[in-house]
Amino acid sequence: MKLGKVRIKTMNKINYDTLYELYVIRGKPMWQVAKEMGVSVGSVYNYLNKYGIQTREPHKGFLGKTHSEKAKAIIGERHRGKIVSEETRIKMSNAKKEGGIGHKKKRSDGYVAIYFPDHPKSNKDGYIMEHDLVMECLIGRHLNDDEVVHHKNKKRDDNRKENLELMTFKGHARLHMKERWNDLSIR
Ligand SMILES: [Zn+2]
Repeated sequence: MKLGKVRIKTMNKINYDTLYELYVIRGKPMWQVAKEMGVSVGSVYNYLNKYGIQTREPHKGFLGKTHSEKAKAIIGERHRGKIVSEETRIKMSNAKKEGGIGHKKKRSDGYVAIYFPDHPKSNKDGYIMEHDLVMECLIGRHLNDDEVVHHKNKKRDDNRKENLELMTFKGHARLHMKERWNDLSIR
């Protein structure tokens, strides 16, 4: 009895009508829809896909072509007082040559990195994972520390939004453990 009630409650929370009303008609970003419905943004993302509701194109506002004052300060702070090594200097100027903000680079591990030094989680060379950025643009906020973006078809460079799934670290680890287990059982 209790279980049934809980299940109905969750299903009612993410019903089609409410989702459609908030996301499509009122045009709210996913993170805001999640907040108003009292569910995680990952659930909103998954249910939009489940219900076949077309998700909007990634919000490109994240990808400003010029540095904001804040970003300049961050970048300045990062390099202030440091003697930038020759290697870093070359990397920085290469990044500029390769096309500046927003240009992509395939990494040796198969993932695609995108040059975006304004991003709070960009590495020391100014790059961030493209799949993270695509998801952030989709949901309209930065990823939390316990969130991870999974490639459904296992292709690390396939960053189409249909191929990406927002998961918790725990859920993601569980999924891959299960996959590994299944692979082992087949053999
Ligand atoms: Zn994964």
